[in-house]
Amino acid sequence: MDKGIKYDGYLSEKELAGAPGVPSIDQLNVKPLAVIECIEPIPCNPCERACPFSAITIGDSIWNLPVLDANKCKGCGACIPSCPGLAIFVVDMNYSSTSALVKIPYEYFPLPKEGMEVDCLNRKGEAVTKGRIHSVKTTATFDKTYIIGIEVNKKFAMEVRNIRM
Ligand code: SF4
Ligand code: SF4
Repeated sequence: MDKGIKYDGYLSEKELAGAPGVPSIDQLNVKPLAVIECIEPIPCNPCERACPFSAITIGDSIWNLPVLDANKCKGCGACIPSCPGLAIFVVDMNYSSTSALVKIPYEYFPLPKEGMEVDCLNRKGEAVTKGRIHSVKTTATFDKTYIIGIEVNKKFAMEVRNIRM
């Protein structure tokens, strides 16, 4: 059984289930949403200001964990590059009848190219499936962070959090 990020270096299922920024599977089945995998109380809040729809709340104490309002979230991904911990993703469970689109922050070179097939890694860094690069995006405001969109079989949508070329 996974003990959690302090012991294993990656989030356990229990930590994910208790994170106020992680929407439920029922909510994810309705529309694309941010998945904020932030579970350690640290003094940090740029994600709150990055959301143009006020869907992320940290509140008065900067030590609070980010809370996602799934009703307000549009799945736009503007919050992804704002997180210094690379802890924010967007998951579109219904990209097609069989595949999901997972958007991840990416700060490595070389960058993948659209259409490329890649290994998709889980939070432990293990390859769990193959995926196809859907998009590679950045802007001046992303501060050198890219957003990589990966099309994966939907059963891996809540596992895939990185790629290997
Ligand atoms: S995906 Fe867009 S709407 Fe949703 S929390 Fe992030 S910035 Fe806000
Ligand atoms: S920016 Fe990232 S690390 Fe900071 S509070 Fe938001 S999700 Fe957590």
